[in-house]
Amino acid sequence: ADVGSQKERVVTEEEWLQKWEMGNIGFHKEQGNPLLRKYLDLLLNGRSGLRIFFPLCGKAVEMKWLADMGHSVVGVEVSEQAVKEFFSEHSLPYCEEPVPEISGAKMFQSTSGNISLYCCNIYDLSSSIVGKFDGVWDRGALVAVNPRDRQRYASLMINLVEKNSSYLLVTVLYDPNKHKGPPFYVPESEIKSLFG
Ligand code: SAH
Repeated sequence: ADVGSQKERVVTEEEWLQKWEMGNIGFHKEQGNPLLRKYLDLLLNGRSGLRIFFPLCGKAVEMKWLADMGHSVVGVEVSEQAVKEFFSEHSLPYCEEPVPEISGAKMFQSTSGNISLYCCNIYDLSSSIVGKFDGVWDRGALVAVNPRDRQRYASLMINLVEKNSSYLLVTVLYDPNKHKGPPFYVPESEIKSLFG
C-alpha cells in the first residue's frame, strides 16, 4: 500500500485536547480490548507485581484491569481531562503533584499508589523520571503518533523497557489512501525496522 499519503500528516496536541473536550473519542472502549485478555500470558510471562507502561493512555480501562491484578501501572497522556475522567469513572481517589523535571507536567496518582498517570507530552519523559518497565500495552499509541515522530517514539520506548520485558502492540490494517488517520497505518515492515 502507498503510505505516502499519511507521511506528512500532523495531529497537534491542541487537536487532541479538542477531541477530548468535544467528546470526539471514538477510540475509547468502555469494554476494553479483548486482545489484552487474549495475550495476557505473553505480557506477564508468569510474573507478578510488574511495572506496566501505557503510552498515550487516554482513559483506557485496561489500566484498571492490570492494577486490580496487582501490577503497578504508569501511563502518559497529554489531556488532563482524560486523566481525571479515568479516576472519576472508576471512583478512584487520587492526588496530583507537579513533576519537578518537566515544566508544566503533573502526575496523578491513585491514593492506593498503584496507578500513576503523567499528564504531559510523552517525549518529555525519560527513564530517569519514570523508571523502566517490565511490560508495555501499546494500543492506540504507536498508531496515534504522527508518522514523522515514529522513530523518536520507538527509541523512547526501547529506552523505557527492561531487558526481559514484553511489549504488546496493537495496530490497524487498512488502506491508507482511504482514511487520513489517526489511527495511522503502520506497515509490519516499518514496525520491524523501528523495534528491531
Ligand atoms: N491508548 C488509549 C488512547 C488512544 S488515543 C486507548 O486505548 O484508549 C491517543 C491518545 O494519546 C489520546 O488520548 C491523546 O490525547 C494522547 N496523545 C496524543 N499525542 C500525545 C503525546 N505526544 N503525548 C501524550 N499523549 C498524547
